[in-house]
Amino acid sequence: MEVELMKTEIDKVFDLQKTHSLNMRSSTAEERIGLIRKLHDWILNHREDIRKAMYADYRKPYTETDISEIYPVVSEAKHTIKHLKNWMKTKRVPTPVTFLGTKASIQYEPKGSSLIIAPWNYPFNLAICPLVSALSAGCTVMIKPSEMTPHTSALIKEMIGEIFEKNMVCVIEGGLEASQLLLAKPFDHIFFTGSPMVGKIVMRSASDHLGSVTLELGGKSPVIIAPDADLKDAARKIASTKFINCGQTCVAPDFVLVPRSLRDEFVQNLNEAIDTLYVSDGQGVEKSPDYGRIVNERHFNRLNKLVEDACENGATIAKGGKNIPEENFIEPTILTMVKESMEVMEDEIFGPILPVMDYENIDEALNFVNKMPKPLALYAFSKSDKKLGYIFRKTSSGGAVANDCVLHFIHPELPFGGVNNSGIGKSHGHFGFLEFTNQKSLLKQRVGFTAVTPLFPPYNKAKEVLIDGLLKWF
Ligand code: NAD
Repeated sequence: MEVELMKTEIDKVFDLQKTHSLNMRSSTAEERIGLIRKLHDWILNHREDIRKAMYADYRKPYTETDISEIYPVVSEAKHTIKHLKNWMKTKRVPTPVTFLGTKASIQYEPKGSSLIIAPWNYPFNLAICPLVSALSAGCTVMIKPSEMTPHTSALIKEMIGEIFEKNMVCVIEGGLEASQLLLAKPFDHIFFTGSPMVGKIVMRSASDHLGSVTLELGGKSPVIIAPDADLKDAARKIASTKFINCGQTCVAPDFVLVPRSLRDEFVQNLNEAIDTLYVSDGQGVEKSPDYGRIVNERHFNRLNKLVEDACENGATIAKGGKNIPEENFIEPTILTMVKESMEVMEDEIFGPILPVMDYENIDEALNFVNKMPKPLALYAFSKSDKKLGYIFRKTSSGGAVANDCVLHFIHPELPFGGVNNSGIGKSHGHFGFLEFTNQKSLLKQRVGFTAVTPLFPPYNKAKEVLIDGLLKWF
């Protein structure tokens, strides 16, 4: 769409939604559930179309789309439908003696007009899960999907056009220009999923009108293998969560820290786990129908450069290393002898490359992690609760999982999100509802009465005694 046309469309829809957001303030749980149910049903009726769109975008295997795109959204919708009435109920809070005669409660009102900006790596899931939260809270929504997955973006636009009036939900497709036009509008809330770099731009724009933000960002999520870990179990779980979606997952294990004496045995287990996942009949991973591709040439080149830089500086490829440029294919690749100074240890890898670093004692590993920006997730493998507790208490991360990876992302009762560089705010289920909600304090006083009258001026000795008592006893 031409920029001028796009601007006109954005201005028009924004005004329509601003007006409609006032009606949505008094929408009931049943009305909101009705909208979410329509979305839920459309998705299940168009499962094949969603699979095809994602395969066309980056050869995402159908079953992987079912597991990582369709299931999380359907599950989010079901969970919200089940609990929304309860979440929306005004909550009475206790009244202390100092507030004698008053009643206090928290009312959950929609923030108003909202904007969702989504990334390309789980292009359906990460646009539609936040939409469920926004609808549950009673917000109007403009969605900007990623320009890098055009088939999925077009399908999202078609879906939203079929289900919603523009004054409720509308999709604006496009890249940087679309984002910039949208970010210039005074949305009440912006829910952004993407890189920390663009997250800062979004937060800066929101500050112009003091709109609130949820920033779901990324980072280098470490895996710490304790000396007592079951190496085979750890390797199997790390390989399956690292290489799903070709490593292009915000919570994918980014690098592994393993005791030096166990490194070779662990890498051997990791290599076997990769073969079990993707190699059959002696055919290479490139022939596996269960392994996707890198989203585009830019990311393909970026990832190959990371491997080249590591190898030039002394790293060893312990597994993989093959790439096919015509297909944007990169084999699951394990690097050992990795040093902190290598490019692969600078930023989130976001691809199928897994550096394995070794450590002498656990505190050395924890100090290494704590020198980096706080990650989105931290994974630890150990048979001892004491050791796991020690690791989680000594580190900070958006989320943490013991003896597995990534699973916390789909747990409906857990808040999902980062901390500082890996994100601000939380999503999913009740936490997603709260993110798009203003928790309004409502205090009701009795007419003609206030317990604090004795504290108003003019001040005198008697009032001072009263205040002394207040400070001492309440
Ligand atoms: P990105 O930040 O490049 O883009 C995200 C969105 O922002 C896209 O819609 C894009 O069009 C838009 N955008 C890009 N540049 C912009 C700019 N200058 N101004 C305004 N908008 C702009 O991220 P990506 O490459 O699509 O996704 C990968 C990143 O997302 C990784 O860092 C990953 O960790 C993170 N991520 C986080 C989560 C999470 O839930 N925390 C989930 C998935 C991905």
